Amino acid sequence: MGVPVSQMWTVATYVVKQKLKGRQRYPLVLMLEPLLRCNLACAGCGKIQYPAHVLKKNLSPEECFRAVEECGAPMVSIPGGEPLLHPQIGEIVAGLVGRRKYVYLCTNALLLKEKVGLFQPSKYLTFSVHLDGQREHHDFSVCREGGFDLAMAGIREALRRGFRVTTNTTLFDGADPNSVRAFFDEMMELGIEGMMLSPGYSYEKAPDQQRFLGRARTRRLFRAILSNRKPDWRFNQSPLFLEFLMGRRNYACTPWGMPTYNIFGWQKPCYLLQDGYVDTFAELIDTTKWQDYGTESGNPKCANCMVHSGYEASAVNDTFSSLGGLFATVRAIFSRRYEDAGARELLREPVRPVHAVVPLTQLESSVKPLEETRV
Ligand code: SF4
Repeated sequence: MGVPVSQMWTVATYVVKQKLKGRQRYPLVLMLEPLLRCNLACAGCGKIQYPAHVLKKNLSPEECFRAVEECGAPMVSIPGGEPLLHPQIGEIVAGLVGRRKYVYLCTNALLLKEKVGLFQPSKYLTFSVHLDGQREHHDFSVCREGGFDLAMAGIREALRRGFRVTTNTTLFDGADPNSVRAFFDEMMELGIEGMMLSPGYSYEKAPDQQRFLGRARTRRLFRAILSNRKPDWRFNQSPLFLEFLMGRRNYACTPWGMPTYNIFGWQKPCYLLQDGYVDTFAELIDTTKWQDYGTESGNPKCANCMVHSGYEASAVNDTFSSLGGLFATVRAIFSRRYEDAGARELLREPVRPVHAVVPLTQLESSVKPLEETRV
């Protein structure tokens, strides 16, 4: 299992309480973006194309704590931007851990080795390191040669100090399933707690528009990768969400399950789209036209989306909605290897990884070079 029992228990009791209260729409993970600037400029990212005056802004620790309390979700994911560039990130994380929130600090880990001393190991804190695959593929994906090696050095240091560490991997068209499987082996050997996966979202503002996956290709890719699993692979996410990615089940999007708060306020309707902002979490829930979103809505912006921020909360909700969902989750955790002869065939198909035919482009980052961002 990739998730500690105490965390699973916290989430399970929280979800059951929401259901007993009859709450239709409840948050599971707050996506807290304390800043939008980054020390990378990845080709598939739609988060960093803001003018300089926006990229300079930070949420204060007090604003972060207020959002966390308003929302009430048991887990807080801190993406961005790159959270380790925030001048008060140590204070923010300590405040959230003090509130017993399970915090996932999502980082590209370029600065992890030197900033890990800002944090204290805790069962409530996990460094979720963005690694998109093996060295060559990752460096291509994040448009930074040497990015993989720096991240690995950060991971090793965090593990040495006793921190929880997971990886989060975003897959785009051209991903080589055999290479992804070899990457899983590498991460398990390294000793991380578990891995998280998601297909990329086709951000309109992302510099590279050619590599986003449609739904059918997403299912095919994840079926090839996640079938015939090795027993020692651990995933730090809902097993039913992984089955959804493999095409074994279907879910409707529940964007309120992972609401986003950042320097503009509460973002409508989800982490990926920006259809306006409101001042309070209650307004977000009450005034968003939720029926206009999700694949079934016919909204073209949602047509190809299978991203975790829309669908993982749906999978968790399924686990606690029926005995069937609970049984399927328990079975997936303890016994499923997903034997699939057809998926083995998919692994034999020739793949030309994107980085084999397109040279790595080092994009201009919106912030100063790495050396100048150090504190
Ligand atoms: S389908 Fe994707 S883009 Fe659309 S609301 Fe859900 S998470 Fe957002």
